[in-house]
Formats: sequence, structure tokens, C-alpha cells
Amino acid sequence: MFRTARVFRVLCVLLTLPTAACGKEGSPPGKGPAAERLPHYRAVRDFTLPGSPAWTRAKKRGHFVVGAKEDQPYLGEKDPATGTYSGFDIEIARMMSASLGLPPEKIRFRTIASANRETALQNGQIDYYVGTYTINDNRKKLVGFAGPYYLAGQSLLVRKDENDIHGPRDLAGKRVCSAAGSTPYQRIKADYPKAALVAYDTYSICVDNLLTYQVDAVTTDDAILIGYAAKAPGELKVAGKPFSEEPYGIGVPRGDNALRFALDDALRAREKNGDWKKAYDATLGLSGVPAPNPPAIDRYPAS
Ligand code: GLU
Repeated sequence: MFRTARVFRVLCVLLTLPTAACGKEGSPPGKGPAAERLPHYRAVRDFTLPGSPAWTRAKKRGHFVVGAKEDQPYLGEKDPATGTYSGFDIEIARMMSASLGLPPEKIRFRTIASANRETALQNGQIDYYVGTYTINDNRKKLVGFAGPYYLAGQSLLVRKDENDIHGPRDLAGKRVCSAAGSTPYQRIKADYPKAALVAYDTYSICVDNLLTYQVDAVTTDDAILIGYAAKAPGELKVAGKPFSEEPYGIGVPRGDNALRFALDDALRAREKNGDWKKAYDATLGLSGVPAPNPPAIDRYPAS
């Protein structure tokens, strides 16, 4: 009985259910970004990038359409009441829009799950994508990547009372949940085949399953898991050390090299002028991890 009530309360926090449904203890939801500490980005005047099909489309429209996540604390979260997106990835998306001459406050964000990112970029549904998107060679055959702008690593999230799981080797015979189409899912499938792996569209569904004892662990990047653990500190913990490198890039349509190079330049400039760090401190930094140095931009040749 006690456990059921506690799990319900935690689900209220994670799902940010309305106050009436959850009662006082489940609300307010976990700390959001520190809005007053976020930098302001002013759109660069007279910027042009005629060589970029995505930019040209956006310029005509008057704003960018950006793909993102909506359920990843401190990174990409959508407020269910206002529809507003916030988090570190969202700030990166906003500063990029300003650097490319379009007002950041006019961006239309679209939630796109891990498995659908390449298709969304290929069919022009979005102009660029900022949402814990690992750069790798397989994906580079389908899309382009600016960046990286952050370096994460795959890790494990377990219940607080779990004492047997400290790393991926301990997953043999355990039920492990990850998102379809993600690199953490692929890594467990290929390198730890004894794990009983299940996939859902989003990590928040995995976390619900962890809280209700349907699975034993959730695996994805540490940056994402730290956020879920911070929202339910009495129930969940990140176990062991990261066991991969996940450099986060900004996804662009493949072949739109003009856009990719302009984003590389914009990232460099925002790292240099302090906006990157300010944005980190007011979002992902709230999870307790101090700002690292941003990784070096990997500007690969036009493709
Ligand atoms: N960074 C990993 C990936 O791009 C996991 C996070 C995610 O699914 O967005 O697959």
C-alpha cells in the first residue's frame, strides 16, 4: 500500500500530472530551468545563407522549425500547461536560431522521438534537430551533424533499493529498458545479449516501468538519467560509471553543408562569448554537475 502511494506520487512528479490529481505532495514538479539566469539571444541582423535549402525555407516562413525531446529533464522538456519547451538542448536551439538571423522566440518546436529523427530531417518536417542526438558514422549516412556541443556517456538508472546492478555486465538476465532507435539500445543488444532488453518510444515510459517494477534498469546517456534521478531522489539512482562516449550534435538534412558549417561557426562563437556556459548553468547544471569544457567542434568535409 505504502509503496503504491509512493510510486503514484513519483509518477505525478515525472508526468507532471495536474495538482488536483496528485495532491500537495506530488506538486510542484521538479525544478525547471532557472529562467532568470538564461542568456538573451538577439537575432543577428542582415544574416543570409542562400546556399542552405533549410535556412532559405525558414527565412521565408519567418522562423525555424526545430525537432526536440519533450520529456528529458534539464535537456528538453515541454510544460504541459503552456506548451513551452525548456532545457539545455532548447537553449542550444535558440542560440543557433539567433546566430542564423531568425528570432529565437518564434521557433516552433516539434517533439520527435529517437527512432524518427532521421526521417523527420529527410522529409523536411524540421529544419534542424537538437535533442541528445549522438553523432556517429551510421547516422552520418542519413543526416548531417554540426557540433558536437556536449559529450555524454551511456549509463544505467535503477531503483534506490537495487544492489546488484553496477555496470552493463550485471544486466545478464535483468529486464532493461531503452528507447527504440537509440545508440544505448543498440549497444546493449550488440554487446550484452544476455540482458532482457525492451524498447519504448521514450525514456520516460521506461522510467515509469522502472518505478512500477516492470523492468530492473533503464539505460541511456548519463545526462538524461541524472535528470530523472534528480526528479525522484528517494526512488531512483544512477548506477556505476558511463561506458560509452555520446557526442551530441545538431542534426541537419544531409547535404545541407552550408547550414551545418554555419551552425559549427555559431556554436564556436557561443562557446567563446560565454552563452554556452550560461545556458548550461541555468539548465543541465541544475542537476548538480558543474559545466565541463565543451568538446571540440568536428567540422568534417562537405558530404
Ligand atoms: N544519445 C543517444 C542517441 O542519440 C541516446 C539519447 C537519445 O535517444 O536521444 O541515440
